Amino acid sequence: MRAVKLVGNARVEVVDVSKPKVKRGWVVVKVGASAICGSDLHAYFAPEGDSFTPGHEVAGEVAEVGEQVARIKPGDRVAINNMVSCGICKFCQQGDWIFCNDVQVIGGDIDGGDAEYVAIPERNCFPLPNDLSFGEGALLGDAVGTPYRAIKALGANGAHIVAVFGLGPVGLGALLILKFLNCEVLAVEVSSYRQKMAKKLGADMVVDPNEKNPVDALKKYTRGEGVDIAIDCAGKDITENQALDCVKKRGKVAFVGENKTAHIRPSDQFIRKELTVIGSWYFNAGEHEELIRLVRRGVKTEEIITHRFSLEKAQEAFSTFVSGESGKVIFVPARNGYCQE
Ligand SMILES: [Zn+2]
Ligand SMILES: [Zn+2]
Repeated sequence: MRAVKLVGNARVEVVDVSKPKVKRGWVVVKVGASAICGSDLHAYFAPEGDSFTPGHEVAGEVAEVGEQVARIKPGDRVAINNMVSCGICKFCQQGDWIFCNDVQVIGGDIDGGDAEYVAIPERNCFPLPNDLSFGEGALLGDAVGTPYRAIKALGANGAHIVAVFGLGPVGLGALLILKFLNCEVLAVEVSSYRQKMAKKLGADMVVDPNEKNPVDALKKYTRGEGVDIAIDCAGKDITENQALDCVKKRGKVAFVGENKTAHIRPSDQFIRKELTVIGSWYFNAGEHEELIRLVRRGVKTEEIITHRFSLEKAQEAFSTFVSGESGKVIFVPARNGYCQE
């Protein structure tokens, strides 16, 4: 079968590899859609690349099932939860697969979905109803699931003014969910392409940080008070600081964008403002049904997919994603050539 490989220094190859074999308790899924994510870019730019096939936001149709697979059968449409956890530790038993110390993420620790087929444990497969596309199913697996978990923890609702920093796929997903919840959403984004997308998806104000200071703009919008909630999806020192600075006293901030270090000023930024600052990472399998319900009730996840590529166009797909002139870029392995919808 064909599979995408990140071979280092932003080079992408499509190679022939053997089709995965079913193991006990595992299934093989024919990939219907697999999305490129910002977290693929570390391996994309790294000189050594990555030996594993990328792709951790995947949906498709079950092709084969291994021994002791009880619930899933060939032909089932499934969305994949990408955290292959041990299943027996304290965290797994509590449903917190995200905390499992032995977790392996597909597309990083084991082969992922940018291929014709992907192998995955049965328990990572969640039914995808016929009225949801494979693209929508793939996006549940990160671009929608990740912001959803943060928004749920923050308790955002229609009474809140929410600032979103970074309108990449996760930020766009956050915007969709927040607008669905009837929040007033203020988006801060450097890319003009994504600024336009944010406007189209209903952002009440879009701030270009190259034109004006986002904290000043957000304060002005709220008559000096600050926003109720800020969500940082950019994962940068500057945006994390702006998120802390733009919220009102006793406001809430979520850090969602990954970042190793940042310099913050605890006294001014959150001790004396009595802020609630949370971290939020991915989402748990138990939230899958909630995500399906959200999409069915009107969170139009398809709207953040801007490009669809066949596997053979993998280099172009990654370049398009990296350019910032895109929302979510997905592989549709069954198709030939490029198709923009
Ligand atoms: Zn991702
Ligand atoms: Zn575990």
